Amino acid sequence: MLSLNKIKEIIEKNNFDFKKMFGQNFIIDYNIIQNIVKKADIKEDSLVIEIGPGAGSLTCELANIAKQVLCFEIDVKLKPILDETLKDYENIDIIFEDFLKVDLQNILKKYSYKNLYVVANLPYYITTPIIMKFIENRISLEKMVVMVQKEVGNRFKAKPGSKDYSSLSIFLDYYFDVQKIMDVSRNVFIPKPNVDSIVISFNKKTCQYKVLDEKVFFKLVKDAFKQKRKTIRNNLKQYDLNIIEKVLKKHEYDLTVRAEQLSIDIFIEISNELTKNI
Ligand code: SAM
Repeated sequence: MLSLNKIKEIIEKNNFDFKKMFGQNFIIDYNIIQNIVKKADIKEDSLVIEIGPGAGSLTCELANIAKQVLCFEIDVKLKPILDETLKDYENIDIIFEDFLKVDLQNILKKYSYKNLYVVANLPYYITTPIIMKFIENRISLEKMVVMVQKEVGNRFKAKPGSKDYSSLSIFLDYYFDVQKIMDVSRNVFIPKPNVDSIVISFNKKTCQYKVLDEKVFFKLVKDAFKQKRKTIRNNLKQYDLNIIEKVLKKHEYDLTVRAEQLSIDIFIEISNELTKNI
């Protein structure tokens, strides 16, 4: 196992310039890395995806436990560093591409595994698009443990009526039980970022919601939040508003309500009624 001091030495030796535009803040605290890996509770025969291995400090620890680790790294300048820090591991693949642009479903076809995990210290500027990519591609994850900017993390657990409640809150609630694991001070990164972080875990829901047609449900939620300040009547003009109004009435709302007031259960009820009437 490489010590973090050794990893720092390799970064310096390679004259690596940290790039703010790629959200490059590397963890330099071994306890935090250990804690993240422990909380991920990676089972045997697992594939772990890491977005942004950086210099590989978390990657090594993941590779010690998982059958295979698959990393996506946008910055090719990290290649000589990763070649050195990860040279003793045969179960790590690194794809040097922008994670948001890769054909994830196709790449995953090349791997055989029982359970799929995502464990990463995410680049802060694209946290939400990364998580949305798993949701939109319907990638079935056992668990996702990610370090994110504190205020972004709080958004993931937003409840109806709060300013942070969005379509993402509903999609996350649909698939996962979201849990805060720990606060992380800005002092454990190089370079030091301007904000603190938190580690969040997303555990696959054991008790699934009963949605008749996921496509209808996902489209409905997206459309309902299209323009946040607009009412359901305005955002969902193209739908059968009589059906929607009936469901809303049952819950003491009318068509002037905004999506941000409505719980996932109401969206599911509307989408199921719409599905029955297609
Ligand atoms: N895992 C390392 C650690 O914890 O020390 C580095 C984490 S750093 C917060 C984010 C990493 O994501 C950087 O290595 C950065 O180059 C990489 N990254 C940024 N944008 C990316 C993208 N679109 N696709 C893949 N990797 C990206």
